[in-house]
Amino acid sequence: MKSEVTPFVFVGNNIAIDFVNTEIMSRGVLIDLLQDDEDLVQWAHEAGLNLKNRLNATDLPATLELRQALRVICLARIDRLPAPRKALAILNQHLANHSTHQALKCDKDNNEYALIPAQDALTIPVLLANLAYEGAKLLASPQAAQLKHCSNAECVLIFKDTSRGQKRRWCSMDLCGNRAKVATHYRNNLTR
Ligand SMILES: [Zn+2]
Repeated sequence: MKSEVTPFVFVGNNIAIDFVNTEIMSRGVLIDLLQDDEDLVQWAHEAGLNLKNRLNATDLPATLELRQALRVICLARIDRLPAPRKALAILNQHLANHSTHQALKCDKDNNEYALIPAQDALTIPVLLANLAYEGAKLLASPQAAQLKHCSNAECVLIFKDTSRGQKRRWCSMDLCGNRAKVATHYRNNLTR
């Protein structure tokens, strides 16, 4: 296990957006938080997903390719530009594998049924198909208009703004909001 605390952020209000946000800026440098298989398994765990922890050699590259496609499409949507065709093709490839990964369970006592998450661990193709589906569902819904880029120009995080009045500006107060507040405070003091 890696010793440092994992810095994954879950500020997107959507799992596909949280997945895109596994690339962050730290002190002006773009950092990929999914460096190896272990990172991916850890991210899935923190995202509440039960992922098989033995990955194939092609799994991480496929994951990063889908993440990039989702990022490009989301940014295009935020800027109200058409999505690049290649990114859409990559997302649609994964979407074709989408399955519910659910099971129907019957309660023998009262003969009632419940749809529950399947017990077996997710394989990477199923995980990616589900992330593609969650992203696609968001993009195709009216909520796509709530997609925003963090107002800190040096931050790469995006999120779905579910706040009242749609006034959210920052990925999070801790990461960027407070920093901006402090900068404004200093600026105001200097100009006084
Ligand atoms: Zn930010």
